[in-house]
Amino acid sequence: AAKADGRGVHRFYSPDMLAGARSRQQLEDDLRQALVTGGLHIAYQPVVNTSDERIVGCEALVRWTHPERGPISPAEFIPVAEECGLIEQLGEWVLRTACLDAAAWPGEIRVAVNVSPIQFASAQLPALVTSALARSGLAPSRLELEITEGVFLDETSSSDRMFRALKGIGVRLALDDFGTGYSSLGYLRTAPFDKIKIDQSFVRGAAQPGNRNAAIIRAIVSLADTLGMETTAEGCEVQDEVWLMRDLGCSHIQGYVYGRPMPSADITARLADDAGPTAASGYRISRAPR
Ligand code: C2E
Ligand code: MG
Ligand code: MG
Ligand code: MG
Repeated sequence: AAKADGRGVHRFYSPDMLAGARSRQQLEDDLRQALVTGGLHIAYQPVVNTSDERIVGCEALVRWTHPERGPISPAEFIPVAEECGLIEQLGEWVLRTACLDAAAWPGEIRVAVNVSPIQFASAQLPALVTSALARSGLAPSRLELEITEGVFLDETSSSDRMFRALKGIGVRLALDDFGTGYSSLGYLRTAPFDKIKIDQSFVRGAAQPGNRNAAIIRAIVSLADTLGMETTAEGCEVQDEVWLMRDLGCSHIQGYVYGRPMPSADITARLADDAGPTAASGYRISRAPR
């Protein structure tokens, strides 16, 4: 975007670009500050069993309310954290906090935590996971780590080692945003995933007549079943989508239809409220008000 003004003088940065770089730097500084002052929190979104609509777990989703700008989407600030070297600190805070919160939840309710490819490439991750579990008292089987296909862009042998180390601890592994990455399917041969999360872009519109997404979801579910993996349909917003995902054989559903991401205190209350007489197998959930 270098631009000539016609007299042989080149301006390499337009005023817009300078403003962009400044606000980007500002965002980075503010995020660093938020990590120190406790300006982040976690929202939890329920994940239900398709068959009986009971909550089996919740996904931890980081939230940041900026002092001037208000709430900022993780889709905006996670990439910033990844580029400026803050993601490991942020990720550690989310992991430790989510484990502490989940340790107070009833029964076998699990917590899912998103792990950035940068964290996944760090040799310290297994020790961090072990420490977060030990300090919270959460059983390893109640922690699920969500990673994206992005981790396969790195060297395969090191990701294989990381998978083995994490499975050795006893945590569960989920492949997030499946179908949106650029990787081949080859990694499914060896990567020990417990679950595939079907990206919401496939769920969106799938219930409309003639939509091809349903065929794609059916194929993903068939693949996952064959490999012994569970499937979560992400982003179900309406009842038609719930019925369709049930027909297509998805084992789990996550979406606004069952609840938006909510503060820790609210999810704890929801889990307690929904504990029915047959609570041993899970927790009954009422439809979120629409
Ligand atoms: P994700 O891991 O795929 O999380 C699911 C996203 O879908 C969440 O967006 C959730 O609020 C949204 N969602 C769930 N159900 C529905 C629905 O029915 N309709 C619609 N329209 N959206 C739905 P959110 O919270 O904005 O997070 C966006 C992404 O930011 C996440 O996608 C994840 O990639 C990243 N992220 C969030 N928290 C963390 C974190 O602690 N660490 C890392 N590394 N990434 C995170
Ligand atoms: Mg996720
Ligand atoms: Mg996802
Ligand atoms: Mg996503």
